[in-house]
Amino acid sequence: MCAAVLVVGSANADLVVPVDRRPAGGETVLGGDTVLSPGGKGANTAVAAGRLGADVALLGAVGSDPYGALLRDSLAGAGVSTTFLRVVDRPTGIAYITVTPDGENSILVSPGANSALTPADITSEALAGAAVVVLSLEVPLPTVEHAVRRAAAAGVTVVLNLSPAARLSASTLAAVDVLLVNEHEAAYLLRSDDADPRELLDLGPRAAVVTLGAKGAVVVDADGVTEVASPAVEAVDTTGAGDAFAGALAAALSEGTALVTAARRAVKVAAISVTRHGAQPSYPSSDELE
Ligand code: AMP
Repeated sequence: MCAAVLVVGSANADLVVPVDRRPAGGETVLGGDTVLSPGGKGANTAVAAGRLGADVALLGAVGSDPYGALLRDSLAGAGVSTTFLRVVDRPTGIAYITVTPDGENSILVSPGANSALTPADITSEALAGAAVVVLSLEVPLPTVEHAVRRAAAAGVTVVLNLSPAARLSASTLAAVDVLLVNEHEAAYLLRSDDADPRELLDLGPRAAVVTLGAKGAVVVDADGVTEVASPAVEAVDTTGAGDAFAGALAAALSEGTALVTAARRAVKVAAISVTRHGAQPSYPSSDELE
């Protein structure tokens, strides 16, 4: 069984605790009630694409524990295939998130089962029939690099969401069709806060998309630089907005949509997601987009 969009990435349980302030070393602070929700960049991306009606699968790993079941249910609820979601003998990944009254998050990720995803998991069966593979970096980098190279060799369009930022080999970046980064990740890659986004193409990808928060995104490819403005919305929670963008972009590209048009659609999807709380629960369906 295969899917038009194959997401290779993490699945985490998000444990979100509101706090007045964060504890210092050796200190105990009492917070508010914990909110548990399905998350992880890979699972979020897959759910965003699934809600839009894409034929999508998540290739990842969870543990045989209640958090793994929560993630599987959420993926299935969005129509995401879990055929390539392996159950391993490690705890499901968990993101421990504290949120202060000013809305600032600080996040500790325990990757757990995500660490068990190996290059051997990137099978021909999973890649067969895929139009787009979309990857993010909460799983081991050797697995990501292997998946990028295999997908590119198979003629599959490779979308690499370089998040959280990390340095990948030049040969991996050269095999990427669309490099997707936010402003911070672009600055990390280009070692400068005010570099020209066109310089991202010097790293090897065919095209790059830089997301710019409330300002939308910019697309850089052989045709030049195209700004894609965001609709003005009242943002209440930007958690998972970048993953919504990645899922929507991959879904559109898998239908043969041109990159700039796909980015316009992704900006719209991500803008809707920030008007609602949470990551996966905030993602719109294709009906809502019309
Ligand atoms: P970011 O990772 O902050 O660049 O956000 C990713 C995408 O989410 C952006 O390209 C926008 O489409 C959307 N987004 C994030 N923050 C906002 C906001 N405050 N208002 C509208 N859209 C937003």
